[in-house]
Amino acid sequence: MRGIPRIRYFLWLVVHGRILTNVERVRRHFSNDMRCGVCGLDVESIDHLFRKCPPAISLWSSLVRPGDLSAFLSMEFLDWLRFNLTQSSNFHQRFQHWDLLFGSILWALWKFRNAHVFGSNSGRCGLWEECTQLYDQCLVARTYGRQQLPAVRVNGEQVQHWQLPRSGWCKLNTDGSCRLGSRLASCGGVLRSDSGSWVCGFSRFVGRCTALEAEFWGVLEGLRLAWSRQVAALVLEVDSLEVYECLLYRKSCGGFSAMVHSIFELLDRPWQVLLSRVPRSANKVADGLAKLCHVPADSEVLVLDNFSAHVFFDPPVSLLHLLQDDWLSAFGFS
Ligand SMILES: [Zn+2]
Repeated sequence: MRGIPRIRYFLWLVVHGRILTNVERVRRHFSNDMRCGVCGLDVESIDHLFRKCPPAISLWSSLVRPGDLSAFLSMEFLDWLRFNLTQSSNFHQRFQHWDLLFGSILWALWKFRNAHVFGSNSGRCGLWEECTQLYDQCLVARTYGRQQLPAVRVNGEQVQHWQLPRSGWCKLNTDGSCRLGSRLASCGGVLRSDSGSWVCGFSRFVGRCTALEAEFWGVLEGLRLAWSRQVAALVLEVDSLEVYECLLYRKSCGGFSAMVHSIFELLDRPWQVLLSRVPRSANKVADGLAKLCHVPADSEVLVLDNFSAHVFFDPPVSLLHLLQDDWLSAFGFS
């Protein structure tokens, strides 16, 4: 199945039995409770979670023809995965690409289970809604393929300025900044609504590190902030190709893999996050916020020995012109 890399990676884990279900946790001596984290009725094997648990059964029975359901649910598990992940059509009349829908459902069920187990929230949208949104994202990824995935191009046009997220979504732009020589680095980011209005922003001094590490700090702080603001659907925009590819393809990244893993953990929570890469000209507010930490004399700025992020609930005055530029170009006035 070709879809979005995050789901492909997840499916790889499923096929290779690497998913940490409660049965697997007990086997590895991480825990002594095998019960299902969702229903509590049975042991949480991979088969239970994806086929026998009530939310899974209810999804499958709404999709699979009643006469085929019992065979569908009792196939050998690995055969079941292989069969469904290679059925690209003719399985369900409403969904042209059954393999994509099937993979999306497994991923959504896993996220749903994690939301229950970790109590992060019972899912910010319904399970079925989540499946269909994932399906749409996979379809876009399959249609455009790897080369054109970066949202830098829309309808073949190079996007040079900040754009509004689609209705119901928030957009997070993040950036890192590193001074040559001293290597003192900082990061910043801005969260805006679908009308382009300011939700909040942050700026954080991160000590001595590389420019790339500062970029990742920006993503991590930004995602934490967006999550804490109960955002359900988020477009995350970065301008660094390295950061973009690392997050999209789940590549390991140098000597700070713990931070990258914290980012993956946030991305895997029960919310929608679409990753996008934009040119620097579309990321100026985030860049401005990252650089705020460079100017100690400014009243809006934090002390350099303060490593916690400063959150701006109102836009910093020094960045108003950049915000206005974004806003005007997003609405086609420039
Ligand atoms: Zn269950």
